[in-house]
Amino acid sequence: MKYTSLYRRYRPTTFDKLFGQEHIVRTLTNQVKLGTVGHAYLFTGTRGTGKTSAAKIFARAVNCLSPIEGSPCGVCEVCQALSTTATMDVLEIDAASNNGVDEIRELRDSVAYPPVHGKYKVYIVDEVHMLSTQAFNALLKTLEEPPTHAIFILATTEVHKLPQTILSRCMRFDFRLVPKDMIASHIRDIFDEIGKAYELDAIDAIATAGEGSVRDALSIADMCLSCSDGKLTHADVLDILGASDRGTLLSICEGILTGDSSRVLRDIDKTVRLGRNVNVLSRDLTATLRDIMICVITGEPDKSLADTYRSGISAIASRTDKDRVLRALSIMASLENDIRYTTSPRVVVEAAALRATLLKTDLSIEGLLQRVNQLEHKLASVESGVVSAPQPKPTPTPTIKQPTLADDSADTVWGALVRTLKQKGMYALYSCALEVKQVFFREGTLVARVDNSTDYNMLTNEVNTKEIISIISSLSGKQYAFVCENTKVEGNDLEAIATLKRNVGEDFIKIH
Ligand SMILES: [Zn+2]
Repeated sequence: MKYTSLYRRYRPTTFDKLFGQEHIVRTLTNQVKLGTVGHAYLFTGTRGTGKTSAAKIFARAVNCLSPIEGSPCGVCEVCQALSTTATMDVLEIDAASNNGVDEIRELRDSVAYPPVHGKYKVYIVDEVHMLSTQAFNALLKTLEEPPTHAIFILATTEVHKLPQTILSRCMRFDFRLVPKDMIASHIRDIFDEIGKAYELDAIDAIATAGEGSVRDALSIADMCLSCSDGKLTHADVLDILGASDRGTLLSICEGILTGDSSRVLRDIDKTVRLGRNVNVLSRDLTATLRDIMICVITGEPDKSLADTYRSGISAIASRTDKDRVLRALSIMASLENDIRYTTSPRVVVEAAALRATLLKTDLSIEGLLQRVNQLEHKLASVESGVVSAPQPKPTPTPTIKQPTLADDSADTVWGALVRTLKQKGMYALYSCALEVKQVFFREGTLVARVDNSTDYNMLTNEVNTKEIISIISSLSGKQYAFVCENTKVEGNDLEAIATLKRNVGEDFIKIH
């Protein structure tokens, strides 16, 4: 006996069996019930979402002698006649073959003849965007003045490739990706019906891999049926898909988001050694990062995910931030093209995963932005007195301390301070200390001049001032006081004010 694929065997014959397209079904069935059928329809959407099935059901429904709730009854003589492939009343044209020129010409010639069985002749043009310009023009002529008995249903996955002249003449229906739950329950029903035992996780994996396409999910289910004899397990499905298991995926993503590069490489290696396909791994990583991003933004993981996976996603999401995930996601998502054109996909995936992991070596704009963000974050917390950067408590300075400096000029002391701040990992304070424009001693006080309020606020923050005093005192072995002056106050310049004072006389100048 010839094996019929699940997709053909379980192709819907009534609208209520068309999954996930309620918005379209409602309109089409109403048109059948009310007899307000149009002449040109455009069905768009990803492959496997039910465009052709909907077109075929509609073709029979408009002709059916006693439609039930807008769907064909399946038993009347017209339904019977139209269900055979030999019918002349429902014609399917595949635009992908030969650009469809001959078929469209034939269509033009035959459209004038009335239908044999029912009320309407229905032309279904699949992949209509593949038509050549000539074929489009021929089709357009027909669409402009269709005979009353003709209905055209144009189906396409790439609606943007259609000329405006065609679009403007059609009633457009956008087919959505079918929700995973719906696909899963459909597969469960089919397996129950044919008596195939399964693990729920296995069904979940098949539905996920279908990515919103019933057709894709059913062809995977087909593969699973032919590869597994007994109960279909989650591991079986992963084997068939070459998919990576979720625990490893979560671990790799966690490594990426926490900057643990050796873990990332180790886990990728483990996955590849198990014989997993690298392309699939890269796609799975992108999908996992996406799940984490959704959780970071909305505060909870997608409800349709399996429980153990959900808790893994929440745990990772709670320890990372939006920018970091977004950056990792965009790096991993952009891989799809790179992988296609490389002879060593593994290296490409590893390099990308590392780039997403190691912020410090990433000189892309996103990488730099991420680092600026981190610095700003540190700065803000230091300014607000909540010190998150490693900031040792200012220790009381021992008065007797061996000086470690070559001389005790202000420049030498400041230079040593800057180096010490860097060594201590106090990067926010370090970057401000670097920006100081001038340092000098004024009666035993070290004076640092800056020219902006950010540096000024940072250096005059009480905790920081204490830290600076502590460091310079221990470095030089002397007790110094420290002040910071901002030469740009409210747009005024201290130098300019000094000049003005000299020229005009101090009494005339009042500075707030
Ligand atoms: Zn019927």
